[in-house]
Amino acid sequence: MIIKDMCVFALGENKEAAVKVPQGEIIKFHTNDCFNNQITSEDYVMDVLDWDHINPATGPVFIEGAEKGDVLKVEILDIELDDMGTMCCLPENGVLGADITENQVKKVPIKEGKAIFNQFELPLNPMIGVIGVAPENEPIPCGTPGRHGGNMDNTKIAKGATLYLPVFHDGAYFGCGDVHACMGDGEIMVSGVEIGAVVSLRFTVLKGISIDNPRLEDADNIYTIASSEDLEKAIYTATKDMCGILQKNLGYTLNEAGMLMSACGNLQFCQVVDPERTVRMAIPKTICDKVL
Ligand code: CA
Ligand code: ZN
Repeated sequence: MIIKDMCVFALGENKEAAVKVPQGEIIKFHTNDCFNNQITSEDYVMDVLDWDHINPATGPVFIEGAEKGDVLKVEILDIELDDMGTMCCLPENGVLGADITENQVKKVPIKEGKAIFNQFELPLNPMIGVIGVAPENEPIPCGTPGRHGGNMDNTKIAKGATLYLPVFHDGAYFGCGDVHACMGDGEIMVSGVEIGAVVSLRFTVLKGISIDNPRLEDADNIYTIASSEDLEKAIYTATKDMCGILQKNLGYTLNEAGMLMSACGNLQFCQVVDPERTVRMAIPKTICDKVL
């Protein structure tokens, strides 16, 4: 099943527009880049960018069988990239925002499995920046992350990984977009190598279990993910959620689970530049292979 030519700029319930998709099938989402493909060359004048129409998510889709309180399991089966990426930097944006004096657009061609940045051939790490469901309350712009997912800009949300999202509304109202050909952890200049893509996903609804925040697993690790305007709060939430996973699955006390994380857990930045910051706590699967 193919989902294209439909997008939203905020994740929320959208009963009229939602397309129904079944569980267990491969669903291919065609996604525009985070600039909604508006930036066509390095000469593009950023002042004309339509800021009301950025960070599109393809969707929403209504996941059949998903009910409020369930967990939506999303397997990321493939990410096929377009052949040209875009980056930009803007005064007042990102970690160095106060030091940036003028806008710049950079086109980054994708050739033979590499991103060509000036003289460098950077390895690709195709990842999904925006991925989530309708949040509990009011719609949230796709540029903002939260408990519902959204603009987490997590380099680990890549091919082969499985994401778990809380379901706040029957049908979930899932959307995704903002693929990056590659990005460094932190996304310090507010853009990765932004690119259009076709993302292949498979959905499964898990009953009888609830989560407060997104979780993730890949071949090597399990991850908790948390976002907050306050980086310290995000760090606390991701750590507390992982503590709960270890207590539940290993039968550990809080003290023991905490010391185990302190010994071999890795607290990592997803992004530190969006309206809410996002971090993750990683635990090797050799320690705990259950993320729920
Ligand atoms: Ca993003
Ligand atoms: Zn992006």
